[in-house]
Amino acid sequence: LRDPALPDPALVVLVGASGSGKSTWAASRFRAAEVVSSDTLRGLVGSGPHDLDASTDAFALLEHIVQARLGRTLTTVVDTLGSDAARRRRWLDLARRAGLPAVVVVLDTPASVCRSRNAARERAVPARVLTSQLASVTGTVAALADEGWDAVHHVRPAADATPPPAPART
Ligand code: ATP
Ligand code: MG
Repeated sequence: LRDPALPDPALVVLVGASGSGKSTWAASRFRAAEVVSSDTLRGLVGSGPHDLDASTDAFALLEHIVQARLGRTLTTVVDTLGSDAARRRRWLDLARRAGLPAVVVVLDTPASVCRSRNAARERAVPARVLTSQLASVTGTVAALADEGWDAVHHVRPAADATPPPAPART
């Protein structure tokens, strides 16, 4: 199911803290091969998705895959924290060279929701790490406007997955 507001093919860069719902959002809208995830790549070249020692190798692969896909004008969803400005710049340049539209999707999930989802996960990110992620996402959102993206979309949790309240029983 595609979001009609998103161009296709396109570069789609996700921005959001751990637990904000990036991977879930991407999985519900894109084919698995269209999503390039740093966690998935850490799982391929390291002991698992959270093996931070594998980050350097995983990000080298991520850059390679993004470049190869965009070079073929294939839709590419980059599923990372999204807070590294130099990487965003590079991905945007690759999309421009390929003639593809480039958009950012910010998972604007409230900090409290990220925290409670994170706490419920099997491999929770330490609270102080999540705090620093939330701050870097805030800084990233402020920077996006001047970076030249074709669009910056904000996804709020109430907009996609909250079921309507059950009717009151009387
Ligand atoms: P990470 O950066 O750690 O990979 P993430 O941003 O990819 O996190 P997800 O793995 O997509 O986050 O989601 C985190 C948790 O929140 C999961 O348990 C998921 O089931 C739940 N979740 C994600 N999106 C929603 C939603 N729209 N409504 C309810 N629960 C959600
Ligand atoms: Mg994820």
